[in-house]
Amino acid sequence: MRNKKRITQLLRSGRPKSGWVNVPPTRASTYVFKTVADWKDTRARRDLERLPSYGARGNDTGHALEDALVELEQGYRCFLFPTGQAAIAATLLAFLKPGDHLLLSDAVYEPVRNFCKHQLAGFGIEYSFYAPDGSDINSQLRPNTRVLYVEAPGTMTYDMVDLPQIAKLVAGRDLVIVADNTWGSGWLYQPLMLGADISVMATTKYVGGHSDVMMGAAVANKRTWQALQKSVVGLGQTTSPDDAFLALRGLRTMPLRLKAHGEGALKVAKWLSTRPEIRHVFFPELESDTNHELWKKYCSGSNGLVSFELQREHSRDAVERMIDALSMFGLGASWGGFESLVIPADLASTRVLSDWSQRGVVVRLHIGLEDSDDLIEDLDQAFKTLHL
Ligand SMILES: *Cc1c(COP(=O)(O)O)cnc(C)c1O
Repeated sequence: MRNKKRITQLLRSGRPKSGWVNVPPTRASTYVFKTVADWKDTRARRDLERLPSYGARGNDTGHALEDALVELEQGYRCFLFPTGQAAIAATLLAFLKPGDHLLLSDAVYEPVRNFCKHQLAGFGIEYSFYAPDGSDINSQLRPNTRVLYVEAPGTMTYDMVDLPQIAKLVAGRDLVIVADNTWGSGWLYQPLMLGADISVMATTKYVGGHSDVMMGAAVANKRTWQALQKSVVGLGQTTSPDDAFLALRGLRTMPLRLKAHGEGALKVAKWLSTRPEIRHVFFPELESDTNHELWKKYCSGSNGLVSFELQREHSRDAVERMIDALSMFGLGASWGGFESLVIPADLASTRVLSDWSQRGVVVRLHIGLEDSDDLIEDLDQAFKTLHL
C-alpha cells in the first residue's frame, strides 16, 4: 500500500462511532449485565469475541487502540501490556513449555536475553542464538524449536534478516515466528506481511512518542491469537485507559514524527561518517551499511536511531567523558520520544556469537526532533574532548 493511503487509514482507524473524534479514557473495572442470561452469553462468547465483560479484559479506549494497531500491522487481534517487555514475556510464555527450544537473534534486546536466562531456563526451556543476519538459522533449528524470534533491525547494530526467506525455510514446522517490531513500530516495517505470526512492540517508544507512557502491544495473526490470549488472560495483563489514550493520540502523528526523526538521523549519520574519530556508523539507510540492501527491500524509511563505533584508540573512559560533554543529548534509556538521547553500548559483554572485545566503543544516539544542525554542533564540540 502506498504511504499516503496508509496515513489516511491510520487517521481513521480506532475512531468512535459517536460524534467525538477520540474515545475518552474509560476508567473501568466492573461491567454490569442486565440479566443472568446476558452475563452467561458474554461469558460463553468472550474468548472468541472482544466484548466488554471485565476491566482486566480491556476497556473502550484500549479496544480502540487495539483496532488501530491491528490495521497498522495487518494482523487479526491485538493485546495490550503495561510494558514492551511484558508483551514479549507473555508472548514467549504462550508458546513455550518445558522441553521446548527458543531460537533468538544475537542482536536481541538485552532484557529479552535476561528473561531467557532468569525465567525460561528455570522452566526447563532451552534457548540459543542465531547470527544477527540470520545466515545460520537453518543449522541452528532443533526438532523442538517452537519459537523463532526475530528482531529486525536488531538492537544497537540494526541488523536485518530476510524474513520472507526465513518464513519459507520454517514452513511446515510446528513453530511460531515472533518479531520484535519496536524499531519499525508498524510503520517502517510490517513483519506480519513478511511471514511472522506475531509482531510485538514497545509502544512506549514511537507510538507513544512523547516519553510519557509505558506500554507494549502484541498483534497476532489468525493462527496464533487464541493461544496468545490465554497467556494474556492467565498472566493478568492489561493496560490503563489513560495510557491507551496517550498511545492512540501519539499514533496519529507517528508517521510525521518518524519521517522527521529519519531525516535528522540520516543527516547526523552522514556527518558521523566523515569524522576521523569514527570507525563505523550503523545506520541501514547508508549505502556503506551491510544491511542496506535488505533495509531497502523491506523497510519504508528510517527512524532516529544511529549507532557508531569509535576508533580503538579512544578508550572507554575518554568516550564516557565525551558523552558527559554533550548538552543536547539526554543520557537515558528508551527512545522514540521527541528528544535526543545517548547511551554507551556494551556489545562485548552481551553478544555471544561474535567477539566485540577487539572493537572500538559503540555509542547509540536517538535523534530527536530538534534541529539536526544544533545536534551536529553539539557532537562536534563533544568530540573535541576525545583529543584532550
Ligand atoms: C524498549 C524496547 C523493548 C521494551 O519496551 P519497554 O516498554 O521499555 O518494556 C523491547 N524491545 C525493544 C527492541 C526495545 O527497544
